[in-house]
Amino acid sequence: MGIATTNPATGEVERTFDALAEKEIDERLERAREAFERHRAVPVAERAARMEAAADVLEREADRIAAVMTTEMGKTIKAARAEAHKCAKACRFYARNGERFMADRPADAAAVDADRAWIRYLPLGPVLAVMPWNFPLWQVIRFAAPALVAGNAGLLKHASNVPQTALFLEELFRRAGFVEDAFQTLLIGSDQVERVVRDPRVRAATLTGSEPAGRAVGGAAGAEIKPSVLELGGSDPFVVMPSADIARAAEVAATSRCLNNGQSCISAKRFIVHADVYDEFEGRFVERMRAQRVGDPMEESTDIGPLASERGRADVESQVADALGAGATALCGGERPGGPGWFYPPTVIIGVTPGMRMFHEEVFGPVASLFRVSGIAEAIELANATGFGLGANAWTRDPDERERFANDLDAGQVFVNGMVTSYPELPFGGVKRSGYGRELSEHGMHSFCNTKTIWTG
Ligand code: NAP
Repeated sequence: MGIATTNPATGEVERTFDALAEKEIDERLERAREAFERHRAVPVAERAARMEAAADVLEREADRIAAVMTTEMGKTIKAARAEAHKCAKACRFYARNGERFMADRPADAAAVDADRAWIRYLPLGPVLAVMPWNFPLWQVIRFAAPALVAGNAGLLKHASNVPQTALFLEELFRRAGFVEDAFQTLLIGSDQVERVVRDPRVRAATLTGSEPAGRAVGGAAGAEIKPSVLELGGSDPFVVMPSADIARAAEVAATSRCLNNGQSCISAKRFIVHADVYDEFEGRFVERMRAQRVGDPMEESTDIGPLASERGRADVESQVADALGAGATALCGGERPGGPGWFYPPTVIIGVTPGMRMFHEEVFGPVASLFRVSGIAEAIELANATGFGLGANAWTRDPDERERFANDLDAGQVFVNGMVTSYPELPFGGVKRSGYGRELSEHGMHSFCNTKTIWTG
């Protein structure tokens, strides 16, 4: 399937779009280059005011854009609406802090034999953003809000199954009053991405998505000596120790695993529970997973809609079949329902061992693996026994254990007694095969800046 809106709740293709031809891509890149020159000349405060206007549009039109997202990728309407409001919040965060983040930083002039020395943050130019469908608005905004306020131009290559959301984003920044073409959506296939990354007018790239896509974009950027940020997959651990509030941990565990119909990079996927509280946790967690309402994502009461694509569901099914075939057990779920749409039930699996695909791979659906451990050392070893290193959850009231988890869980973010979440105020990113670089906070803004040293004698 090319670039199209296909409703995952019905499996029906609702709209198709043509990919840009080579000549059109070239024209768009030239427009981005010209737009950057005009956009960078606009004072930061004015760019920030435009971002505030974008937040207003997102808030006013949250219901409309939420319905588009739900139709294109199946997230529940309540989650889609919340995503639109979260995006507005991030736009306001950069609108209100952008000037401060971009301000000059004085250095110790005497130490460097200068009359004056300072650091100035300057935009790089047009930046290509290759984005996934799972949070089709949020993933783009968390790149675009800091990048545009910093003075960069944005070029969006969105996932092929969310073209209407992609076009809305271009319209959003135009309506907010940004310089014409400061943010453009390129409707192109993944086979046209490398050509854009390698174009000299594009100065940097960011990709959120799978490992193979990350290798392709990061590899092309590296070959051209261009900076890149990669936000890739995750198989986040969720460790529960005896001192934890078990009822609360089980509740958050189910919420995290089922977030976005189970398709979130930072949703907890491997639940590692101390033997002293294992039975209680297992009982409560399975009960919570069973209680999730699976159904029409447009219904306000639905907790879990369909998976975004037929292939995505087939992948989850084959990972589960692999584990069950090799001796694991499903405590709930594990079988797709009949009828149209790409639905998959909340599933909890025990007995997952090294060698099974689920042990090593990211499962992008509402499927949890549950493990019993005898102490903190074993918990940390199992938590880190993955190629990924995005987020990690730990549940404990013991201050020494908290410190150990903070230091030893090999991840870009560790949340203790709460769910791993992205906040505009905090840096976000991974280690190991979850990627490199950071988005959000001032770190995200500086990811696409020239941190320029200025020395005057
Ligand atoms: P995906 O297949 O990698 O697609 C992501 C984007 O990359 C899409 O725009 C896709 O375009 C493009 N793409 C795919 N292959 C490419 C290639 N060889 N060269 C250039 N571009 C390519 O990932 P997905 O299945 O949509 O998204 C799920 C993955 O994203 C999961 O692994 C998830 O964990 C990860 N993710 C990570 C974060 C994070 O912040 N770390 C956040 C959300 C999701 P097409 O659609 O046209 O193929």
